[in-house]
Amino acid sequence: MDYAIATLGSHSALQILKGAKDEGFRTIAVCRSDHAFVYRHFGVADEIIEIPSYDDFYRVEDDLVSKNAILIPHASLIAYVNLKTIEEMRVLYYGNRRILYWESDRDRQRMWLERAGLNLPKVFKDPSEIDRLVIVKFQGARGGQGYFLAKSEREFRRKIGSARDYTIQEYVVGIPVYIHYFYSVIRGELELMGFDRRYESNVDGIGRIPANLQRDLKVTYTIVGNFPLMLRESLLPEVFRIGERVVEASRDICPPGIYGPFCLETVVTPDLKFYVFEISARIVAGTNVFIETSPYALIKHGRPMSTGRRIAVEIKEAIEQDRLKEILG
Ligand code: AMP
Ligand code: AMP
Repeated sequence: MDYAIATLGSHSALQILKGAKDEGFRTIAVCRSDHAFVYRHFGVADEIIEIPSYDDFYRVEDDLVSKNAILIPHASLIAYVNLKTIEEMRVLYYGNRRILYWESDRDRQRMWLERAGLNLPKVFKDPSEIDRLVIVKFQGARGGQGYFLAKSEREFRRKIGSARDYTIQEYVVGIPVYIHYFYSVIRGELELMGFDRRYESNVDGIGRIPANLQRDLKVTYTIVGNFPLMLRESLLPEVFRIGERVVEASRDICPPGIYGPFCLETVVTPDLKFYVFEISARIVAGTNVFIETSPYALIKHGRPMSTGRRIAVEIKEAIEQDRLKEILG
C-alpha cells in the first residue's frame, strides 16, 4: 500500500502538504472543525479529517494507521497534543520521537547545546544573581507569550507575579537570526534551508511610537509572522559548523540523533558571534516564507525546494531504497 503524508492543520501544514503533493504523495490534514475550511480552500489535502478540538487528536490514530499515513510533527502538534500521546501513538512518525524529550525542557536543551560547544546566553539560577539585562521565559512552545525583560532582582520580582516555571536568561543584544537546517539520513548530509526573522507583537511595534511614550509599555514577544532573511555569505561556514555540532551532540544524547528539519534560534552580536538561545527539533514555521523555495535550497537542489517538500523527498528516497525504518522514530 502507498504511503500518505499527514499533519495537523496549523503552523506549517500548508507547506508540508503542498511539498508532499509536489512529490506525488497522498495527503491528509487533521484539522479542528473550525479551521478545516482553510485547508479545503487551498486544496493541499486529499483528505481532511475533522476533530472538534486538539484534545481529540488521539482519536484519529486508527484512521491514520489504516491509511498508512506518515505523521509530520510541527510546533502546533507539540503545543496542543500531549507529549505522552505523541510518544505512544502507533502512527508512523517522521523524525526521532525521543528527541522531543530533550527539546521539551529548557535545561535538557541547554545540556544538548552545551555539549555541542555553542555560545549560549548565561542562565541565572536565582533572581538574586541578576546583574544585567535578562529575558524571563516560561516553559513550553507558547510563542514568546508573556516573556518580559528585567535589569535587576527588584524589577524581576515586580513583574513575575505568581508564575513559577520560568527561566532567567541573559538578554543578548544583537539581531535575531533563525537558522533552518535539514539533516538528511538518506544522503548523509546537513543542508542549509534558509533563515528567517520574526515579527512579534508588541515588541516590533514599539519602535513606531516615540521613546517617551514607550517607557510605560509592557514588552511582549507574541509571534505573529516571519520575514525571509539572507545572511552575509562569510557567516555561512560558522552556520554549517554549529549545525554539524548540534547533530553530532544529538547522536550521543539520543541515538540515532536528530534528523530532518531543525532550527537554531540565535542572536548575532556585533562581533559576529552566534548566541543560540533555543533549538526547535523539527520544522519551524519560519520556513513558511520559503514555501516556493529559499535561494539556498534552490542552489543546492537545482529546483524549487521548501522544507516541507524536502521532507517528502527524503521519505520518497527512503522508500525507494527500502530504508524507511531509518527515518521513522
Ligand atoms: P498555532 O497553531 O499558530 O497556535 O501555533 C502553535 C505554536 O507554534 C505557537 O505557540 C508558536 O510557538 C508556534 N508557532 C506558530 N506559528 C509560528 C511562527 N510563524 N513562527 C514561530 N513559531 C510559530
Ligand atoms: P523564543 O520564544 O525563545 O523564540 O523567543 C522569543 C523572542 O525573544 C525572540 O524575539 C527572541 O529574539 C527573543 N529572545 C529570546 N531569548 C533571547 C536572548 N537570550 N537574548 C535576546 N533575545 C532573546
